[in-house]
Amino acid sequence: MTATLIDGKAFAARLRSRIADEVTALKARGIAPGLAVVLVGEDPASAVYVRSKGKMTREVGMNSYEHRLPADTAQDDLLALIDQLNNDPAVNGILVQLPLPRHMDESAVINAIAPEKDVDGFHILNVGRLATGQKAMVPCTPLGCLMLLRDHLGDLSGKNAVVIGRSNIVGKPMAQLLLRDSATVTVAHSRTQDLPGLCRQADILVAAVGRPKMVAADWVKPGAVVIDVGINRTDEGLVGDVDFDAVQPVAGAITPVPGGVGPMTIACLLANTLTATARANGLPDPQGLTP
Ligand code: NAP
Repeated sequence: MTATLIDGKAFAARLRSRIADEVTALKARGIAPGLAVVLVGEDPASAVYVRSKGKMTREVGMNSYEHRLPADTAQDDLLALIDQLNNDPAVNGILVQLPLPRHMDESAVINAIAPEKDVDGFHILNVGRLATGQKAMVPCTPLGCLMLLRDHLGDLSGKNAVVIGRSNIVGKPMAQLLLRDSATVTVAHSRTQDLPGLCRQADILVAAVGRPKMVAADWVKPGAVVIDVGINRTDEGLVGDVDFDAVQPVAGAITPVPGGVGPMTIACLLANTLTATARANGLPDPQGLTP
């Protein structure tokens, strides 16, 4: 058996094209969605992310507002900018690129964003809303994983899901989303015992660790759906947390790296911006873009 390839790149392209259609329809009603991205400092990886977010935002017809601040910006000045964006009706989504310079308090900055404009879904209110099954803005990477899983499996109810990783941006919200879809969820981390044995029980295995090719073939239940969130730069190029070549013959379906979860993250940022725009204008949530 060879696993079906879950083509996140193609899925994300279809999603962006659908979002572009919805943006066109909104503009016809006089509503122009806008996403503001704030970058503090000159971290080269962050600068690349911000550039590609801006490009994709414009490609779907949304307005993109980029704010670049020097690394030594005072936190109060950043908070003043966020306040201005919170009160700007042209801005429907606000994203502050992480990590922030060390003199800043990341939680204070994220929690200063108006929750309804928090398209990263990191604001404490959105975290609580997701955990309690209320309408939230949902973190983009796990939202993208959920869309791929639903597309491939349909109903996730009753499936055994193992999420490796318990970060606030991927592992924990991923577990919440799977639980919300009635999967039976186990969250594994660096202290988990017999991780291979635990993973072998999973119908759905999500790896969000940051360790190249950690998930080996004998960790995977035959036929399982494997979602590889990892992005690891190695001498052989970009690789995931899953040993793709070894696992592909065992799994039922698998996301590649690159071309799997990665492209879904920016597409879901645009999806969240569209959802935020709809909500700001008293319209129903666009279908299929929220959990
Ligand atoms: P993170 O904050 O570093 O969290 C990593 C998690 O993995 C932690 O919970 C850690 O456990 C766990 N872990 C570390 N070593 C382990 C081991 N040997 N066995 C079991 N668990 C272990 O990372 P993250 O931000 O969640 O990101 C995870 C990966 O996803 C990274 O490669 C990152 O680049 C990638 N990523 C991709 C996207 C995308 O768009 N595709 C987006 C975000 C992140 P402890 O909590 O016990 O330390």
